[in-house]
Amino acid sequence: MTRARRATVTVDVGGIKVGGSHPVVVQSMTNTDTADADATAIQVARLAHAGSELVRVTVNNDAAAAAVPEMLRKLLDLGVGVPVIGDFHYNGHQLLVEYPEMAKGLAKYRINPGNVGAKRHDENFQTIVRVAMENGVPVRIGVNWGSLDQTLLTNLMDANAKLAEPRESRDVMIEAMIESAMRSAELAEETGLGHDRIILSAKVSNVRDLVDVYRILATRSDYPLHLGLTEAGLGMKGVVASTAGLSILLEEGIGDTIRVSLTPAPGGEREEEVRVAQQVLQSMGMRSFLPQVSACPGCGRTTSTFFQEMAERIQAYLRASMPEWRARYPGVEEMTVAVMGCVVNGPGESKHANIGISLPGTFEEPVAPVFIDGRLDRTLRGDRLVDEFIGILDGYVEQRYGGAAVTA
Ligand code: SF4
Repeated sequence: MTRARRATVTVDVGGIKVGGSHPVVVQSMTNTDTADADATAIQVARLAHAGSELVRVTVNNDAAAAAVPEMLRKLLDLGVGVPVIGDFHYNGHQLLVEYPEMAKGLAKYRINPGNVGAKRHDENFQTIVRVAMENGVPVRIGVNWGSLDQTLLTNLMDANAKLAEPRESRDVMIEAMIESAMRSAELAEETGLGHDRIILSAKVSNVRDLVDVYRILATRSDYPLHLGLTEAGLGMKGVVASTAGLSILLEEGIGDTIRVSLTPAPGGEREEEVRVAQQVLQSMGMRSFLPQVSACPGCGRTTSTFFQEMAERIQAYLRASMPEWRARYPGVEEMTVAVMGCVVNGPGESKHANIGISLPGTFEEPVAPVFIDGRLDRTLRGDRLVDEFIGILDGYVEQRYGGAAVTA
């Protein structure tokens, strides 16, 4: 299923096409100290391995800027070719000039127009744009309401206060974000940057504001848009809020690249934000990344946690297998697997999946029918049920996606 995407120009970011009719691109950002080239290269590699198609790193000081070339070399040594984007605030105009090897190695620069300095705002902004032009890389003009251009906001607030019927401050804030992005894009093009070298974003941390900002931004230009709810937060709150905001906009054809800005739990994996972004796109039928497991929620008919554990184990097995499967079995990412808890919906749901198993409910006969492509294939029983099902799954993947005919 495809949505009618808003018409945008295509921007090439290190070989990844963003915008136009190209698929929505998943990106992420590291949280290592960029000055630590080893740690950053490892995290970039892990994010890329998880499926991040673009990875952003902060370049916040001399040590970080000096470490970027080494980090990029380490990535190449690891065989990772993901385009790396530099995130600049306050001193980007200095670092990009003083560290030309860093400027050359990055695939895109993110400029926050609210953080390029108030006094020499345009001059600093144009310096970054000129370095981008020299290196043939695009920029993302990334407005964020937490660091909105205060001069612009104050001017708009003052003008609003003088109106006979002033608008709400929220509306003025939204206008200021859009104005900041559009004026900056105009200045970049006046400086000489190509129209197809600019991506815009205007991030806020509230879902309704995000939707309103992007709906307006989408009507004002044909630049590709980077979507994300900034500071989405921890755990479930971050996942749900990001999904809610992104889904509305993506469904309307708005958004060419996405990031889910989750705060990892202490010790948690940074790759989680990549997995959530992929799941948003796959749940909406926009892209396929990973075979999907349908599992029932369980109820009073399943008094053991066996089927939950089985669903979790199969999900983990699919995820762990995907790096190899992706190369060997084209199309496997579209496979559906059902793990169901009892006879009520088990056989029906399993028949709808490519491969499914219906486990016995509490008072049912201890047998588990396996369905392949809508037909009963066999019935499993006993202690090795999960291992046997995984074996059947492997065989199905080989037959269905390995080029041989399927025997059901
Ligand atoms: S399939 Fe069975 S166990 Fe699962 S929710 Fe439905 S009735 Fe309950």
